[in-house]
Amino acid sequence: AAKAAGKSAYRTCTPELRESAVSRAELIADLRRAVDEEQLELQFQPIIDLGTGQVHSAEALVRWRHPRLGTLAPGRFLPLAEETGLILPIDRWVIHEACRAAAIWRRGAPEATIAVNIAAAHLRRPDLIATVTGATAAAGLAPRALTLELTESALIEGSESVLDRLRQLRELGIRIAIDDFGTGYSSLSYLHRIPATELKIDRSFVARLGEDARAYATVNMVSSLAEAFDLRVVAEGVETDRQHDAVAAIGCAHGQGYLYGRPGSLADLSTSLTGS
Ligand code: C2E
Ligand code: MG
Ligand code: MG
Ligand code: MG
Repeated sequence: AAKAAGKSAYRTCTPELRESAVSRAELIADLRRAVDEEQLELQFQPIIDLGTGQVHSAEALVRWRHPRLGTLAPGRFLPLAEETGLILPIDRWVIHEACRAAAIWRRGAPEATIAVNIAAAHLRRPDLIATVTGATAAAGLAPRALTLELTESALIEGSESVLDRLRQLRELGIRIAIDDFGTGYSSLSYLHRIPATELKIDRSFVARLGEDARAYATVNMVSSLAEAFDLRVVAEGVETDRQHDAVAAIGCAHGQGYLYGRPGSLADLSTSLTGS
């Protein structure tokens, strides 16, 4: 839904874009330069072990420091990047930077892992494996310290060759998470086929915990499903103590959300309590 909203926002031209008189064409031209001109930046959001309260992982989230518009969140430019194919160099940059950052973080927290989001377009590319292994090797990062986050919609388009690539990545030790779980066309049959290691329960369900019995049932069901499939489960978007108590009571082992920490710098991550 966020992606669809992002796309239509560009078509109708958001108030911010109108004010600063940056046209869609200009923004595309700017985006083309963003990687080379080092305007992209990663933020890291902690993922917590709900049993111990410790940070054991972090998700890398891209930001664009636009020279005139200020810092843009991914919802402002990734839809455009996906339409134009610029998502490929952006994601390649993200993978490399995230591996580099993780290698630094692991000096102080040897068990820490890093998660990166991978666009559907990347999944379709045969060179995904070379990109990922190139990045881990360049950073000196153990493959098992890297998780690729894929959305259900990206996976559902998955041809046999996509599944093959995912299996090869798994064989290398790389972890595979299904992001925003529950928002796509969740077919239970594809869970059998995808070599996932974790499910991330979409924050729209977590947000309604305590208000909506169906949201509770959904989180509960996904959590049981994860257990049965031997997958790690992460509750996304935990903002309140009440939501924390609910996901912990349901038995989710891991959580991510503003309650535990907002996306921030690598230094912020290193100073938070880590699993080592
Ligand atoms: P996502 O992968 O589901 O990432 C989680 C998003 O939820 C992040 O938004 C994060 O800041 C936000 N979030 C975390 N905790 C909370 C909370 O407690 N409450 C609320 N309201 N929000 C929370 P962000 O950084 O704006 O990223 C949005 C989406 O953009 C991501 O969703 C992901 O799909 C995509 N994205 C971000 N970075 C990258 C990237 O490097 N490559 C690709 N391909 N996609 C990316
Ligand atoms: Mg994600
Ligand atoms: Mg998510
Ligand atoms: Mg999301």
